[in-house]
Order: sequence, then structure tokens, then C-alpha cells
Amino acid sequence: MAGEPQADCLFCKIVAGDVPATVVRETATTLAFRDISPQAPCHVLVIPRGHYRDAAALAEAAPEVAADVLREAGAVAEQEKVVDSGYRIILNTGAGAGQTVFHAHAHVLGGRGLNWPPG
Ligand code: C5P
Repeated sequence: MAGEPQADCLFCKIVAGDVPATVVRETATTLAFRDISPQAPCHVLVIPRGHYRDAAALAEAAPEVAADVLREAGAVAEQEKVVDSGYRIILNTGAGAGQTVFHAHAHVLGGRGLNWPPG
């Protein structure tokens, strides 16, 4: 069921504390932690605590939590001091777009120049 923890989901395991992560922010509905393979000086993932396969599924099932994720992404950028230089919020959706973990997450990338369009 949408939002319920999935036993085989890596990010559900991070939410449960069964897999370690460097948490930088948390709220009742979200968790923000450093990406294990950073692609920029600031690379933080913001996830809903509940399990949704991607951002679209999250927005459909729990739009208020989707808003929390976006708000927290902005708060991460403030905390990481990348607002003035600019940052990017990325929602990879589907394997063809590079999604490898099928638990909704927003990448917050900043601290270096970011090209457009992304590769
Ligand atoms: O958008 P995508 O699904 O590819 O993003 C998943 C991200 O999760 C990757 O950037 C990967 O480095 C990160 N990851 C992590 N900690 C893990 C496993 C993956 O931060 N234990």
C-alpha cells in the first residue's frame, strides 16, 4: 500500500535506522541525508519517510508530503549555503532517467557550476 515501508527498499531501511546515513535534517514526514556518492560539494537527498516509488506517485498519494519534500530541499540549500550560487533540485523518475532507488527522493545539488541541459 502507498506509504507503507517496503522490506526490500534501501531508503526505507535508512528511515528505519537499519542502514546508516549522514542525516542533515529531519522532520516528521521527511529525512535529508548526504548522498553516498556526491556529484557536487553539496549533494543531499530529501526523501519522504513513507514509501512511494517516485515523486509523481508521492504527489498523487500524499501531496502535502510532496510539498514537505520540496520545502525541505530549499531548507537544505539554505543550510548548505548554496542559495546565492544557485542549486538544482532533481527528481529522477524511471530507470531510463537514471532512477536507481525506487523510493521517491529529491537530489539537492550545488556548490559548483551546473550545466544545462543535464546529461
Ligand atoms: O536518482 P537515483 O535513484 O539514481 O538516486 C539514488 C541515489 O542514492 C544515488 O545518487 C546514490 O548515490 C544514492 N545512495 C545513497 N546511499 C546509499 C545508496 C545510494 O546515498 N546507501
